[in-house]
Amino acid sequence: MGLGNCPECGKLYLENTALLCPDCYRKQEADAEKVIEYLKDVDKATLEEIHQATGVKHKIILRLIRSGRIIGNSISYPCESCGTLIDEGRLCEKCSKNILDQLKPDERPPEQQPLTKIRSRMYGREPD
Ligand SMILES: [Zn+2]
Ligand SMILES: [Zn+2]
Repeated sequence: MGLGNCPECGKLYLENTALLCPDCYRKQEADAEKVIEYLKDVDKATLEEIHQATGVKHKIILRLIRSGRIIGNSISYPCESCGTLIDEGRLCEKCSKNILDQLKPDERPPEQQPLTKIRSRMYGREPD
């Protein structure tokens, strides 16, 4: 905890669990109320529909989804990577898989020298 810049308005504030300055936090709470109210009346909504109906910024709706504030409703929102509509996590299945695939080479152990090669170098001749 310390001083930080509010990600919303850029003002310096004392860092807290909301990660927003008190002003923006209050605003976010008011927005959250609006979204929660709206979701009471619908079974399913996309991020865009919530935005249109409540006027709350996409960014804030996403933050509410990620912080678990408005979970339990079927809300579709775009994958952070490709924009496909998803209803859980941050990435669609395809992008999560892509990321896992990209991680693999780093996890592989360094290539091992075949033992025969090492031996031939040690004895200066080809192995039998
Ligand atoms: Zn702020
Ligand atoms: Zn995706």
